[in-house]
Amino acid sequence: MSKKHGKHHRGQKRDDGVTESADLHGSGRPSTARWAGGVAETAPDVLGGPPPIPVRAAPGIVTVAPGTRFDLAAVDTGADGGLDKAWAKDALAKERERIIALQERLYAERARSLLLVFQAIDTGGKDGTIRSVLKGVNPQGCTVTSFKVPSSDERDHDFLWRYHARTPGRGMIGVFNRSHYEDVLVVRVKGLVPEAVWQSRYGQINDFERLLTESGTTLIKFFLHISKAEQKKRLEARIADPEKHWKFDPADLVERKSWDAYQQAFADALTRCSTPDAPWLVVPADHKWFRNYVIARTVADTLEAMDPRFPEAPKGIAELTVPD
Ligand code: AMP
Ligand code: MG
Repeated sequence: MSKKHGKHHRGQKRDDGVTESADLHGSGRPSTARWAGGVAETAPDVLGGPPPIPVRAAPGIVTVAPGTRFDLAAVDTGADGGLDKAWAKDALAKERERIIALQERLYAERARSLLLVFQAIDTGGKDGTIRSVLKGVNPQGCTVTSFKVPSSDERDHDFLWRYHARTPGRGMIGVFNRSHYEDVLVVRVKGLVPEAVWQSRYGQINDFERLLTESGTTLIKFFLHISKAEQKKRLEARIADPEKHWKFDPADLVERKSWDAYQQAFADALTRCSTPDAPWLVVPADHKWFRNYVIARTVADTLEAMDPRFPEAPKGIAELTVPD
């Protein structure tokens, strides 16, 4: 892995005359901080980040082992890790504090990015998870994109075009509420393109994700796994509560009839697109409190492993005085 550090072009002369100093942190990591002529530069001029950071899945989450057929039905959607609900709520608040502090560093460092991908069957809890896990994070450092049925402009491009345009830039956390996986999920189940087209997409997705990870983006892909009975409960709750009516989509009842086809499509996507640098994480998601806690912990632990750092302070800054 350490060989990939070379991609950072350390010690390279930039066209603005600044020579990048190598390894300011003395950690073997490429530097992200420079100081030139009174202007702090933080972004490397060449994308191509440090080696991909291994995702740190919290206990209770099932990581799909790359290269093996994944048995989705064997994962218990109702698992709670033996945790206590009240404890997990407190623990979630602590994980959020960690995310908030680490996000500030990621933003200040302005060298790498984090992309959280959420996929689930309808009512699987994507919106609730995003609301709960990212509560309190500085909105300036975060972009959330909810992908809907593609527009005609989007359909006029390759299927990855609209997703690539929304990937997080340096320093940012990006969140995909649905993602490029829709193009091997709903598209496959509803037969929106010929099989030969969706079949070739798994490899294209892996190539796309490799491009992102090799460019300094860490991907965490969460599949929120609920049971068919839990979906029924959630749909009934949406029908029963007037305040939830806006969330009820009659089309969800039609999609529910294709439950098995969706499970098969999810299992295939998890099997074919779980890679060492961008593995799929399956989250037992019948219990919202368990889901929220393990996802927040995974985000916090992975950010911690990324170890984002504030840029090196300009030399002599502590001695500066501000004129009257
Ligand atoms: P919702 O997330 O409930 O607001 O619904 C968004 C809808 O857009 C869902 O029915 C998705 O299946 C659909 N959708 C998202 N991406 C695609 C895509 N690439 N092709 C077709 N339908 C999509
Ligand atoms: Mg919906």
